Amino acid sequence: MQTPVAINSIYRATEGEGLNLGQTQVFVRFQGCAVGCVNCDSKDTWDFPLTGTMAMHEVIARVEEQDLGNSKRVSITGGDPLHPKNTPALISLVKELKSKGYWLNIEAAGTRIVPEVFDLVNFISWDFKTPSTHVRPNPVLFKKLEEQYRGKFQVKAVIENYKDFEATLAFRKEHFPEGHDFPWFLTPCYNPGEEFPLERFQSVIEWNEKVGGPFRVVGQQHKWLHGPNKKQV
Ligand code: SF4
Repeated sequence: MQTPVAINSIYRATEGEGLNLGQTQVFVRFQGCAVGCVNCDSKDTWDFPLTGTMAMHEVIARVEEQDLGNSKRVSITGGDPLHPKNTPALISLVKELKSKGYWLNIEAAGTRIVPEVFDLVNFISWDFKTPSTHVRPNPVLFKKLEEQYRGKFQVKAVIENYKDFEATLAFRKEHFPEGHDFPWFLTPCYNPGEEFPLERFQSVIEWNEKVGGPFRVVGQQHKWLHGPNKKQV
């Protein structure tokens, strides 16, 4: 029997943030998340469906239909695709897509390392949860990630205010006192309903420069283009 997959949506779009900015890819958004970031902009992805919403072959068919042929890239996101309720289907999906030659990125909330997935995907986007989320980052997981997946991950921290920046910097100083050799992005947030947060963006660049520029500051391009409320872009 094929594993059913809890899917929120599958669509083609251009990556709007981080290291793969500007890359055309298909996004497979899982349904279900229990992380509970208070500033989450995708709360529609939180509820776990009681049964799988799509059969695996339907997910693959939809990815193939959305893919333009030249990119063969998929970003798996959520919700939380790495939640234990989602991982059996996720592992099957990753295996299926890899066997079809897809380059895969997994968006990880920063709360769980799943070797069966991380070993197979090409890239891991790992969240550093800032105080604005009310979720505490786990230094043990960061160390593990650095040891086991060096060269295939980035860290992204969504920055709402100076407290978020300070906490990101303090974490880096405490747990990576010699610095870090992976791409670590600060993403000035652009909240639903807000005007373009130019001042926040400029401040994050300024704070980073003041401490010697240890981070890369990259905004959310898809929100500049489509506004902060639009989904599936
Ligand atoms: S992990 Fe992602 S989907 Fe889940 S609450 Fe946090 S921001 Fe929202």
